Amino acid sequence: MNKYVFLSAMLSAALLFISCGEKKASSSLNAMDTFMTIQVYGKKPDEALEKTRQLIYQIERNISTTNEASDVYRLNHGEKIAVSNDTLTLTKYGLDFAKQTDGVFNPALYPVTSAWGFTTGDYKVPSQNQIEKLLPLTDYTKIQIDGSSINLEDGMALDFGAIGKGYTGDEVIKLLKDNGIKSALLDLGGNIQALGKKADGTEWNIGIKSPWTGKAAASIKISDKAVITSGGYERFFTADDGHNYIHIFDGKTGRPVDNGIAGVTIIAESGLYADALSTTMFVMGLEDAASYWRHHSDFEMIIFTENQDLYYTEGLDGKLQLLADFASVNVIQK
Ligand code: AMP
Ligand code: MG
Repeated sequence: MNKYVFLSAMLSAALLFISCGEKKASSSLNAMDTFMTIQVYGKKPDEALEKTRQLIYQIERNISTTNEASDVYRLNHGEKIAVSNDTLTLTKYGLDFAKQTDGVFNPALYPVTSAWGFTTGDYKVPSQNQIEKLLPLTDYTKIQIDGSSINLEDGMALDFGAIGKGYTGDEVIKLLKDNGIKSALLDLGGNIQALGKKADGTEWNIGIKSPWTGKAAASIKISDKAVITSGGYERFFTADDGHNYIHIFDGKTGRPVDNGIAGVTIIAESGLYADALSTTMFVMGLEDAASYWRHHSDFEMIIFTENQDLYYTEGLDGKLQLLADFASVNVIQK
């Protein structure tokens, strides 16, 4: 995540009455380098919404890679410091997930992603020699946690670009529940998280964006779930060699993933888990992702390939509505 120092409220809260004395309030903001929209239904939705905005800004202040006062910036610039609960939770979760996926997920790739310019937008293809020099700095097993202190070796750096928004969504949902809200929909830059059902008691209908047209390619009805997508199309550059290089990396090679996947959507209860998985399944590729899913029964998955094939896990059978033409439609079976 880059350049999200300047935060600005884009729209003020809009209030309108709905049935049973409940009101709807919605608000949009720019944070974590994305445009976010939050809809809340309840008795005092405007209050809950304001607390939500403050919470999102607080998490961003802690985990931003570009705000000089953030924990992550300070750790990445050689300080050995005690960190906020947000940073500690994400570091522990990120390292656990890295261990569990044998480094397919790696929250310490920042030195490599920086060399490609993904942190600044000044894109370039580094030499193989340069990549090989940087790879040892992405060894997440060297990161030490002592109480609330995190110790990175010189040159190493953390980046929660793959899980920060999912974590934020979970924290927002907790806050909304604590404030008596039973119905809300978060759109954190395409990361959708639903609290409860819609105010009229029906499920939320969530569109899943086509990697090719940007329009909805499918839709799914959910309540109390996260629907989180990783797309190569979200951030990439075309180099002089004519090749597209995407922002999702294979940590073993230090190069952007190029495995025929265009997008992965995960449906799970936790936003943090779904966010970690969306990135990880993307890096794993179709076969390994299918095999990972077969060993974990707590999420569902939709994969779009660059050839416009659609794959989805069998738990979604009958729940997924297809809204576009695909080269092929395939169900991933247990
Ligand atoms: P997402 O959109 O959730 O897939 O997150 C993508 C972001 O995660 C990138 O922009 C990088 O900041 C970071 N990232 C890229 N590759 C990896 C990886 N293999 N493991 C963990 N984080 C990654
Ligand atoms: Mg992710």
